[in-house]
Amino acid sequence: MRQLLSGNAAARGSALGRARVRLPHALDIEEARIGAGDVDAELARFHDAVGTVRAEMRELRERLHGALAHEIGEFLDLHALLLDDPELLSGIDALIRTGLYTADYALRLQRDRIAAVFEGMDDAYLRSRIDDIDQVIGRLHAALHSHKAALQGVSGEILVTDNVAPAELAQLQAQGVVGVVTAGGSPLSHSAILARSLHLPLVVGAAQALQKVNDGDVLAIDGATGLVVLEPNAADLRDHHRRVSETKRERRQLNRLRREPTRTLDGVDIKLWANAESRHDVTEAHALGAAGVGLYRTEFLFLGSSTLPDEEAQFRAYRDAVLAMTGRTVTIRTLDLGADKADKTGLALRDEPNPALGLRGVRLSLARTGLLRTQLRAIARASGYGPVRVLVPMISSGEEVRAVRRALDEALRELHAEGLETAAQLQLGAMIEVPSAALALPTFVGQCDFLSIGTNDLIQYLLAADRTNEALGDLYSPLHPAVLRVLRDVVRTGQRHGKPVTVCGEIAADPAFVPLLLALGLTELSLHPATLLEVRRTVRASDLGRLRASAPALLRARHRAGIEAWLAAHAA
Ligand code: PEP
Ligand code: MG
Repeated sequence: MRQLLSGNAAARGSALGRARVRLPHALDIEEARIGAGDVDAELARFHDAVGTVRAEMRELRERLHGALAHEIGEFLDLHALLLDDPELLSGIDALIRTGLYTADYALRLQRDRIAAVFEGMDDAYLRSRIDDIDQVIGRLHAALHSHKAALQGVSGEILVTDNVAPAELAQLQAQGVVGVVTAGGSPLSHSAILARSLHLPLVVGAAQALQKVNDGDVLAIDGATGLVVLEPNAADLRDHHRRVSETKRERRQLNRLRREPTRTLDGVDIKLWANAESRHDVTEAHALGAAGVGLYRTEFLFLGSSTLPDEEAQFRAYRDAVLAMTGRTVTIRTLDLGADKADKTGLALRDEPNPALGLRGVRLSLARTGLLRTQLRAIARASGYGPVRVLVPMISSGEEVRAVRRALDEALRELHAEGLETAAQLQLGAMIEVPSAALALPTFVGQCDFLSIGTNDLIQYLLAADRTNEALGDLYSPLHPAVLRVLRDVVRTGQRHGKPVTVCGEIAADPAFVPLLLALGLTELSLHPATLLEVRRTVRASDLGRLRASAPALLRARHRAGIEAWLAAHAA
């Protein structure tokens, strides 16, 4: 019988197929104990399972080939790191030894302890890392019972499961699986990110899926809305086919824009940079014809690891991004840890009363000068391989720009003295995302080579609305007259002083806001590769002269409704 199950949209695309249900590894294991004399045997059984999973993951990694091998390899490496985490393993050993629990039950207790820590985290991204722990624990549990955790999918099927690991996704797609529905998981998980890169439709958080769906049922899923239809009727099938042909047509049209200029109807070139936080993003940016990388978020090198990446590790990551962009500029942002991006090393303080107003971004870098020096040396060394700019987050005054400039000059001097190759000079830019920097910009714009407006933070600080707080609803929005005025003023100041201005917040990634940004005078945008072609299409359908001429009307709008009306009247 037809039923609708809803979940969360995680990777766009529609799929129709028979369900293959994989029930979760039974981690709702009953408490079970062993005798004191069995401890050694139970420990050995557990460590054998760890060895088996290690070998399984090594084997999987060796079998990976092709463009995504790098990317998926990174996920596997993360899982291998978790598997080697002494806290995870010694915790389980201790539970077996002192609690006399079976390895299965110890695994479950340890999983619940870790999950409690993750669930208490404020940051949705970090909370979603529990998926990785679950995937590793699931593999260990499967190994304890000597069955392989690896999934088998059949061509044309939709996998229904509690959770799916990134490495499994690539395997499943290779086997012909057309979509995935998970009962748990988050749209921010690594799996969701990877599914989007693979164009594999994914719905997560469909809580009822495992109870309602049986092997062989027919499912129609829409990864753009999170809708799952069990036993679709004729109208559902028509909807599905319509969505598939629309998506195909749209993708074909968009793909034709890969090599086209980002030029408005009246002939003005708009620079589209890419935001990147992984090697895969950089590869995509290049393939889509991005002008360069406008924001390389380096904190992602720090978030996944419990030790700080040293100069060599950072240098290799930055150099690889520079090489992958083959001569197009890479804008590397210095570390922006803190607030919603807390790391595992404890570098970003966890117990600040107001983390968003605390020691984050450049404040942390200037407080830990060794950290800044290492990062600037690594960035400067990467500039020996191609054009690099340095971008500094959370600037609130000219003093901070001057302090970073001094540190950068010092790093260059040191490297030259050591005989290492770097660019002679590196351009230094300020993120404009703190209201004081936006308002006082005329006092220090002369010290910046370029500016990049971080609307994600600028909006939160201007409107005093936490960017991560869903309870604030519409309050956190770019459609506020204060936001528009600040954007216009920053663009004007940049233009008056001949400094390029980019917008690199999420507003630049949404084609609906492109007319507004163009009207306010922006000619450079930096955005995630996922929507780069859509934004290019919107720019190409825009008349810049007409938009600029109606900027005064936009700026006269007194409230959100007025700005929305302007957008509706100027949609490309
Ligand atoms: C921003 O604040 O707009 C920005 C691009 O930086 P992040 O989202 O990394 O804070
Ligand atoms: Mg920011």
